[in-house]
Order: sequence, then structure tokens, then C-alpha cells
Amino acid sequence: LEATGQTPSGWLIHDMNRPRPPIVVPAPQTLPVPAPSDARVLFDGTDLNQWRSADGGPAKWVVGDGYMESVPDSGYLFSADGFGDIQLHVEWAAPANPSGKGQERGNSGVFLMSKYEIQVLDCYQNDTYPDGQAAAIYGQHPPLVNACLPPGEWQSYDIVFRRPRFNSQGEVTSPALITALHNGVLVHDDREVWGPTSWLQHFPYESHADRLPLALQDHGNPVRYRNIWLRELAEKEPTP
Ligand code: MG
Repeated sequence: LEATGQTPSGWLIHDMNRPRPPIVVPAPQTLPVPAPSDARVLFDGTDLNQWRSADGGPAKWVVGDGYMESVPDSGYLFSADGFGDIQLHVEWAAPANPSGKGQERGNSGVFLMSKYEIQVLDCYQNDTYPDGQAAAIYGQHPPLVNACLPPGEWQSYDIVFRRPRFNSQGEVTSPALITALHNGVLVHDDREVWGPTSWLQHFPYESHADRLPLALQDHGNPVRYRNIWLRELAEKEPTP
């Protein structure tokens, strides 16, 4: 597996010279957003029964009044079940009393298939490298805009994810694709994912299963989540 610091965009990973996405103040949303009838609810604010620790044991994050909160050094959470193509709704809130700067301020992440991170970060008046700010496909694509709300406020991600496809030789035949909205504002438009996301390094795809757990990152900050639901999407019909 050969890693490089160069990405197909021409920018280096985490390049601070990259232009900052423009700031957009999102319109007020009514949260939480109820799940549609065919959704699978992974967290309704009451328990972590559908989540596990990395070792497969019980999830170690804490549940508060209608939310779960990352416990520093407790590790990532993984959904008990695996998923492939999905529409995903997640609500999150950065700590109301922020501390730290850049990547140390309200850092977590939504890992599609445990491998492809949509960054969670308090990017309200907090500068960092654009490919690692809130809603970035980490280390690859900055969001189209910065639609962050102040820390402590509930924010939403709505993500449409198409998993990568591999042939029998393990070569990628179709990369993962992500469309996403942050607080109702478009941040990725059918964006091609170049491989698993990583800090400072760019890794090519390696063949993996069609369904893998959704994961939430413990990055040492007590970030909160609530109202996590998804809809499993049918595979795209083959062209005739
Ligand atoms: Mg993160």
C-alpha cells in the first residue's frame, strides 16, 4: 500500500495555502428531523444497543438526555451492522464551551464504511486546513462552503453515499461517491472519493466488503450526536 502526500487535486494533503470555502449562514432548520418510514434508526437518543466498541464489546460513549457523547480515549463507535449504499442523517453538536484550536476543537467524524471520513469539527470562527474542516471528505475534498453553526448548537449532515465497487482482481471499478448537505446547504455534489481517508497521507483503494459498519470518531473531544438514521439504497440499475 503506497501512501503519498499528493492528492489528485494537485494540492498537498492539509495544504494551508488552499483557499477557504466561503462562509454561508444556514437558514434555521427544525431539528431533530424525523426519520422516514423506511429508515433504520441507529440512535434515537435513548441507548447504544446498536453500537459497539472496536473490540466488538459494548459501546463506551455516554448517553445523556437525548444524545450520546464521545468519551475521550474510549475509542471509536461502530454500528453493529454493516451498510453499503445509504442515505444518512446525523445530528451533532460541538462542545458548548470550546477549547483548543484548529483540529483540536470539537473534532470527531462520521466514517462511512469505517473508512471514509466526513469530518466533524467546530469550524465556527476556527481556521484549519480546508480539506480537514467540518464536512470535508478528510484530506481530500474541502466542503463547497463553510455552513457551521456556533458550538453547542445542533447541526445536521445529510449524506448520500455510494460505496466503491471492486472487480474480482480487487481493483476499483467505481470509486465511492458522496453528496452531502451541512445544515441544509450543499457541501459535496456527487464527489469522488479517492480512497480511504487518512491524516497526512493519501492511500489508494484496497478491496473490501460490500457492507461495513458506520463509525463515529473519538478524537478526544466530547462531541455529541443524536437522531442518527439511514435508508439503505438499492444498487443503481445496470445500464442496458
Ligand atoms: Mg475527525
